[in-house]
Amino acid sequence: MSNIKSFFSVIGEFLKALIKSYTYSIWENGYVIFGILWGMPVPIVTIGISLYCNQIALSLSAIVGEILAHPFQIIFLLHPIIFGIVFGAMGTVREEKEKQKLEFEESLIIKNKELADVNKKLQELDQLKDNFLSMVSHELKTPLTTVQGYITFVKDGLSGALSERQREVLWIAEEQIDHLDNLIGELVDLSKIKAGRFEVNPEPVDLTQIAVKTINSLKYLFDGKGISLENKLPEKLSLVLADRKRMSQVFINLLGNALKFTQSGGKVTVSAHEKDTKIQFCVSDTGIGIPEDEIDGIFNKFYQVDSTAKRKYGGCGLGLAITKHIIELHKGGDIWVESEVGKGSKFFFELKKYEKLEKVES
Ligand code: ADP
Repeated sequence: MSNIKSFFSVIGEFLKALIKSYTYSIWENGYVIFGILWGMPVPIVTIGISLYCNQIALSLSAIVGEILAHPFQIIFLLHPIIFGIVFGAMGTVREEKEKQKLEFEESLIIKNKELADVNKKLQELDQLKDNFLSMVSHELKTPLTTVQGYITFVKDGLSGALSERQREVLWIAEEQIDHLDNLIGELVDLSKIKAGRFEVNPEPVDLTQIAVKTINSLKYLFDGKGISLENKLPEKLSLVLADRKRMSQVFINLLGNALKFTQSGGKVTVSAHEKDTKIQFCVSDTGIGIPEDEIDGIFNKFYQVDSTAKRKYGGCGLGLAITKHIIELHKGGDIWVESEVGKGSKFFFELKKYEKLEKVES
């Protein structure tokens, strides 16, 4: 079907070319001359054969006589003209195509330039946004630290005795400040990642100790929400080369999410085991779970399964992106999740075991 279509379109283009004067111009269109030269041998051969067969010597009057005696020779005489027209039309079609191609190439060059300009502007805006992010997060951090200091000062009774109500209010204020502190911390980390200044300082550590410390410090939040937090970590594990502060941040992020996305009455478990040259940790919960088609996205920055304005859970979608970055900055670091909606999620991460002869790099 498409063959028939393209055949008719070629015929159409050819017929259109016949309307153009350029098609017949011997001076402008080289194809016409080429056609005439191709058509020349036809009358020469036919008249020549006829004269030879009739044993007539070649002369102008003999040729004229031959044409008058056999008028069909006129058809052969017209061949150089017919060939000139046909080749001329082909030349015109080709010329048009070349013109279209040139116009298309020119428009491509213009569009490419426009794209490059837009790209450059986007990069400048991105840089501006990164600078702004870094500046704002640092500017917010300083007054927040001061407010935190004052709250602790008042809470510790250093500015006088407190009533029960005042303690309650301060407790709520502290909780909100901690929440804000977390968000700002994540923004600072993000700006460091973007600027390539996010680093880890690895040293040989027993990750179970860091995990247990985090579990103990967050236990009261789980108790408060009525979620059981189970420690199924082995007594001792091989050492890994890791950054203590950053690994504690990993546990806080994973346990914080498990707490946030698990309903009251649910269970969160932290476990670990050694696997060949690696140590694998798992934070599992019996919470809301993650739909299968969202799993790939949750480690991207600012990604949330529910990002609508009416969403139930707080956060800004940076925790897992930063967690993944931290894990991947460590030797053999990998992180992934298995989850089922309504049943819960299991976040796994693994790091390579530390071998005594290994060099500690920072
Ligand atoms: P945040 O928690 O601040 O929204 P994260 O990067 O920590 O950002 O997590 C991204 C998204 O992944 C969350 O918004 C949530 O939709 C999903 N998620 C993370 N952890 C869990 C979990 N344990 N259970 C269910 N969903 C989760």
